Amino acid sequence: MNKRHSTDYKTYLSEEELPTHFYNIRADMKQDIAPMLNPGNQKPVTVSDLEPVFATELAKQELNNTDRFIEIPEEVRNFYKMYRPSPLVHAKFLEKELDTPAKIYYKFEGNNTSGSHKLNSAIVQAYYAKEQGLSSLTTETGAGQWGTALAMACGFFGLDLHVYMVKCSAEQKPYRKAVMETYGARVTPSPSLETKVGRAILEKDPDNSGSLGTAISEAVEEALATDNCRYVLGSVLNQVLLHQSIIGLETKAALEKIGVTPDIVIGCAGGGSNLGGLIAPFMRDRLAGKEAPYFIAVEPASCPTLTRGTFAYDFCDVGKVTPLAKMYTLGSGFIPSSNHAGGLRYHGMSPILSQLYHDGFLDEARAVEQTKVFEAATTFARVEGTLPAPESAHAIRVAMDEALKCKETGEEKTIVFGLTGTGYFDLAAYASYRNGTMTDYIPTEEDLQRSLQNIPHIAGIQ
Ligand SMILES: *Cc1c(COP(=O)(O)O)cnc(C)c1O
Repeated sequence: MNKRHSTDYKTYLSEEELPTHFYNIRADMKQDIAPMLNPGNQKPVTVSDLEPVFATELAKQELNNTDRFIEIPEEVRNFYKMYRPSPLVHAKFLEKELDTPAKIYYKFEGNNTSGSHKLNSAIVQAYYAKEQGLSSLTTETGAGQWGTALAMACGFFGLDLHVYMVKCSAEQKPYRKAVMETYGARVTPSPSLETKVGRAILEKDPDNSGSLGTAISEAVEEALATDNCRYVLGSVLNQVLLHQSIIGLETKAALEKIGVTPDIVIGCAGGGSNLGGLIAPFMRDRLAGKEAPYFIAVEPASCPTLTRGTFAYDFCDVGKVTPLAKMYTLGSGFIPSSNHAGGLRYHGMSPILSQLYHDGFLDEARAVEQTKVFEAATTFARVEGTLPAPESAHAIRVAMDEALKCKETGEEKTIVFGLTGTGYFDLAAYASYRNGTMTDYIPTEEDLQRSLQNIPHIAGIQ
């Protein structure tokens, strides 16, 4: 590594350049997000409403819309040093493959065992739980990256962890369970018989294959019923976007180091945490009226939250035990078609990103079909070497499409995207793409209406 910690291909920040503070975009938003509402009395939630569910410091972060920078605890920074700063890669081989005048860069977050950016927030949430003297945490996981990341974080700080894993994912990915258990977590397929809400769901529908919304309800119920236990969530929440701002802060610093200004920044969007984190410091420029890139959120056509959802207060879970958040939503009962393999299957979207999209600061949301996503993933794996997570491949798809547009117009745009993780646990999906059994299911208007009609009516509000 030379003095600039960069080569032609990769740019690394040094350990000393690891950010010391997270960036809280809420401090700079023109229109703050609508307050989360208590589902009981429909009043804005307070720290004391959230404390039974979240560790106190995290409850404070969730509601903090004034502190622009929040210090990263030293123990967390030390943990980060095991896998951060993460590299910014100049995708020269992809540029050559596409024969495009565009310049393509990606921020790679897959270089840790959990295989995704989720570890960035997991370690912070486990740290504050331990600081508070809690003994255990509960959570949900869909594809398994969040559960794995949290298992690593809880293993590191010596906390017990119970993971409710969406049943169909648990069946498709038995080795995810083995990794989580290796790090000391207990894993239960959801819906389960361990909670009231799980038993109620199974009584009505014994074959229910589970959803993130179901698993969240189970995990929250257990946290509330257990002493010294709290619930943690790996996306959607304001605190998670805050922690993921480390992605964007490093990306901006690395680009400045090599003198590159991005024209387009692209990220996949499930609950919105990696995209929110990646764009945060660039969005700060946009909000301050300075020059800023064009922002694109990419979502699956089978779970089109931003492109076809409604901006309204909705529940974050199926059991309706969580606070109401104002966000783009498909309705808390929405379950993507079972042949959807690409992750990003949550019914809602981060309230912060939702507000920024509603107000026109997040420029565009684009929905892409999964066969096109796996086509892009395959090209990327062959030329750039890394086998991408299907979620990340949504961003690759749109980065490639934008680069191909540049080929037509001759424009030399600079495109930056988030490569959020690796796809080693998604090989069943890669295999179904290869053998031609993968299909694209786009929900019909009736499918969406059925789910959207369950969005609650709240007296005096909506
Ligand atoms: C969870 C996950 C996502 C989507 O979550 P966001 O909160 O929208 O970032 C994207 N990529 C990978 C690899 C993931 O594990």
